[in-house]
Amino acid sequence: MSQDMSAKALCARCGGVVLTVKGLEEAAKAQGMAVIRDTIIVHQSMARQGHDLENHKGFQCTRCGGTYCMGCILAAAPPHRNGGKACFQCGSNYRRLE
Ligand SMILES: [Zn+2]
Ligand SMILES: [Zn+2]
Repeated sequence: MSQDMSAKALCARCGGVVLTVKGLEEAAKAQGMAVIRDTIIVHQSMARQGHDLENHKGFQCTRCGGTYCMGCILAAAPPHRNGGKACFQCGSNYRRLE
């Protein structure tokens, strides 16, 4: 991993790298995948790699500022009363990490 990789934010739950919108795009391009509007577009044969990378999309809580990866949020975050997923710590909602 390069130096700027270590400067990136980490998921507060699993410790994995969380990617910003730009970070996702760069990581996907490096692996020969395309990104359109923050969604990875890949051929069927690369679907697994694309899915694995999407799980590293970062989300930040709008209240406490905690950052989490999409994999953790999808797998374990509690539901928010207004729909979507709620913060593990404070129950507020997330926005995409910029
Ligand atoms: Zn995580
Ligand atoms: Zn929170």
